Amino acid sequence: MKLQKRLFGTNGVRGIVGADMTPDLALSIGLALGSMRKGRIAVGRDTRTSGPALAGALKAGLLATGCDVTDCGILPTPALQFLVRNHFEAGAVITASHNPPEYNGVKVIEPDGTEMGDEQTVLLENRLFGHRFDLVPWNGAGSEQTAPDLVSGYIDAVVGQFPAGIGEGKTVVVDPGCGAACFTTPEILTRLGCRVLTINGQMDGRFPGRLPEPSPDGLSPLCDLVAATGADFGVAHDGDADRAVFIDENGRYINENQEFALIADRICRETKGTVVTPVSTSLLVETVARRHGCDVRYTPVGSIYVARTMLALREAGTPVAFGGEGNGGIIYPSHQYCRDGGMTAAMMAAILAGSRHPLSVLVDQLPEFTLIAGKFTVDDPGSLITAIEKTYAHESIDRTDGIRINRNDSWALVRPSGTEPLVRVIVESPDAGTARLFYEEILEQVRCV
Ligand code: MG
Repeated sequence: MKLQKRLFGTNGVRGIVGADMTPDLALSIGLALGSMRKGRIAVGRDTRTSGPALAGALKAGLLATGCDVTDCGILPTPALQFLVRNHFEAGAVITASHNPPEYNGVKVIEPDGTEMGDEQTVLLENRLFGHRFDLVPWNGAGSEQTAPDLVSGYIDAVVGQFPAGIGEGKTVVVDPGCGAACFTTPEILTRLGCRVLTINGQMDGRFPGRLPEPSPDGLSPLCDLVAATGADFGVAHDGDADRAVFIDENGRYINENQEFALIADRICRETKGTVVTPVSTSLLVETVARRHGCDVRYTPVGSIYVARTMLALREAGTPVAFGGEGNGGIIYPSHQYCRDGGMTAAMMAAILAGSRHPLSVLVDQLPEFTLIAGKFTVDDPGSLITAIEKTYAHESIDRTDGIRINRNDSWALVRPSGTEPLVRVIVESPDAGTARLFYEEILEQVRCV
């Protein structure tokens, strides 16, 4: 289950620069992390304008507590995660992922390359709020080096996951959104044999082309470019490139659950095992996985829970096919146990290389589901969940995260936000009418509390 944290959310600390996210806070995180982890720590960042100041403060905290710091410069979060697993005792990325330019944050990376889990994060927060920092004397201070070239090891690793030249004959338009993947995803795809065009391909923390969230409204220039150039697909990342979303050859945005299902279709065909994903993911993924004899394990919402469950299953000797979230964040255990947008871009090239059909046809061949989602302000989300649990006591209930009601082929999820007085409601059914009725039924419950 999830542990309540005071400062960190599901994906690290985030806040508005100069208000919640300050050099003071970054320094404290560095001091706390450096007091908990010894040895060589890798630091990286996305392209945000506030990155250098926050990285400088974080590094100061690490150095003052005796850690040796390697500054890897600007690179995707999954690239830093890969480097930490192979070369370092811990890591930290200065990023606010998909948030607007005025935000920034810190993600802490464990030695195995995964994001720091709840228990260690609570220990880090306790140190931070209690000012319990192990400052070292002059002869214990850490040293700093820069290593902007280490990122090439990540590119090599992704390329090495696929047969040589698998992308030959394919044209791809890459939209890194002026974020951290400007130099990685285009190179990965080029080395796989693709012809690569870019839009928003220059690093720029003001994000002049579009916001870091790769949502359909910001991607119309990418959609137009894909259609105009006759490309096989377009790919866009969020600001730190742990997620990837796709545009088909006609310039149509592909829903992330459909993307997840296409990848499930490819991986589960060859790799039998469990697919791990949060309870908020479309049944489409489970439907496709089961066709290939794979089962699905559901986790709380948050990529760290997916990654940790995958690791626990592996530890227990249960084969894991792959994992991911229905937002374009996919985890490939043959590569590493974290979401990886560059790897997902490469995977799409591989899917199309093995297909007689263009991407639009592959998407249209998927089973259809209707998913309805909304969020609602609720004074007391806890009592709402309790009330729903009572009302639906006679039905199949899952308390993995919030409350999920499974009814025949349909399901409904009511999930309180960790930070605000609101709940998120998701309902899905293979039948549009059933989905609508089920959604109304759940809203009735929400309104009653
Ligand atoms: Mg991200």
